[in-house]
Amino acid sequence: MNLIILEPGDFVAPGRVRLSGRRQQHIQQVHRAAIGDTLRVGLLDGDIGSGQISDLSESGIELQVEFQSAPPAALPLTLILALPRPKMLKRVIQHATALGVKKLYLINAYRVEKSYWQTPWLAEDKLREQCLLGLEQAVDTRMPQIELRKRFKPFVEDELPEVAANSLKLVAHPVTEAPCPVDLPEPATLAIGPEGGFIPYEVEKLQEQGFAAVHLGPRILRVETALPVLLSRLYPGR
Ligand code: SAH
Repeated sequence: MNLIILEPGDFVAPGRVRLSGRRQQHIQQVHRAAIGDTLRVGLLDGDIGSGQISDLSESGIELQVEFQSAPPAALPLTLILALPRPKMLKRVIQHATALGVKKLYLINAYRVEKSYWQTPWLAEDKLREQCLLGLEQAVDTRMPQIELRKRFKPFVEDELPEVAANSLKLVAHPVTEAPCPVDLPEPATLAIGPEGGFIPYEVEKLQEQGFAAVHLGPRILRVETALPVLLSRLYPGR
């Protein structure tokens, strides 16, 4: 937790917050903080600043907080991700959030197992938890927006044109001619397939919407590896 994220309900007075539970435990057990120590804090969807511990007991921690700087700029990218299996889903959501993705569509594809859609990790509060972990890791405060789309074709045909409007449209696909471009000057919409890959029909459907298939070299990577490699190629230094 490189950033303690604060929400409006944490404030007991202007500039004063009281924390208990997971954040308190982390501050006491990992930071081993004492009264007078200063920690980095951020307001959810707001600015980043510092918090000085003014009180610390079994029942909670109080911090005097002030905010000085804006969070890092969002990545100018919309991510379209075939729903990964639950264990991978949690990690991928955290990584995507830590890398600055603010708009993410989890979609169905032929090689997404039906059972993956039943996982409790897709519940709104569970997804939010994973996003918070990613924000805390990356020292960012802006919560990503995650949308679930259980039907591939209606999503791609009816919704994607607007979702991807005015952006460079790319689908990461191992067996293709074009290498992934580097350092884009413009926003992008990037589709990443399931562990079994997109089937040819799905790649064609995306191509019909203007998506270009691009590869990352001859090695086939896991989704959780392909994601950071793709994002750092498309937007190095962001
Ligand atoms: N089994 C599939 C690979 C799936 S890898 C096959 O053999 O084709 C899962 C997803 O990660 C892919 O759909 C793609 O979006 C991305 N990916 C993994 N390695 C990649 C590479 N070398 N180039 C481009 N995309 C890749």
